[in-house]
Amino acid sequence: MRLSHLLDRNVRWAQRKTEEDPTFFVRMAEQQTPRYLWLGCSDSRVTANDVLNLDPGDVFVHRNIANVVHTSDMNFLAVLEFAVEVLKVQDIIVCGHYGCGGVQRALGDDRSALADHWLQPLVMYYRKNHAAFDALPDQLARHQRMVEVNVEMQMRRIAQTPIVEAAWASGQTLHIHGWVYGIHDGLLRNLCSSTSSSSAARDALESLDARASHPFEPQPAIRLHALDAFASCCEGHGRTS
Ligand SMILES: [Zn+2]
Repeated sequence: MRLSHLLDRNVRWAQRKTEEDPTFFVRMAEQQTPRYLWLGCSDSRVTANDVLNLDPGDVFVHRNIANVVHTSDMNFLAVLEFAVEVLKVQDIIVCGHYGCGGVQRALGDDRSALADHWLQPLVMYYRKNHAAFDALPDQLARHQRMVEVNVEMQMRRIAQTPIVEAAWASGQTLHIHGWVYGIHDGLLRNLCSSTSSSSAARDALESLDARASHPFEPQPAIRLHALDAFASCCEGHGRTS
């Protein structure tokens, strides 16, 4: 049978999970109570549960090409509404990744695929801010900047949805985080200055166009832990964001 090896892998996985935790699937069958909503790229190398080292049940996931939010996308909006209003997640993670083929395509000239309609917001941003991108040293730097801008663009779009605005207005705790995953090292990076937790914080953000020329300085997890450790022993000199 085609794909029987995948079904065999499933059996071995289910057996291993049960050996490690005999009540695992009993708990899973009762209810899902994920703490996080993840918006990520469909890229096969960036799977939320794996890179977060989380079990099934811990993260509610939506993925598409280049982790883009279209405010007319009923698929994503339904996921967002369910996550915020029913699951009551407190943290939404927008995670882009370096080496993203979708972002790379937005920096090119080929507009012959359906994906180019999907990527239109990135293309328009790149064209509008072409001078700032041209000032970067090479194509890799332009790609990485666009990956980071894209994460922030989608964070802002989520923060502008009536779903999130209503949650904030009702006093619900809801943080939006922007992360970038490095396929080359397996590490997540935090776009430190970009966390958005209220309508006021969102409205106080500088123009996204300005971000084309301002480095984000995303911090990998190891670096963040080091900074936190430093901050705890040298109060007042640590990370401020
Ligand atoms: Zn991608």
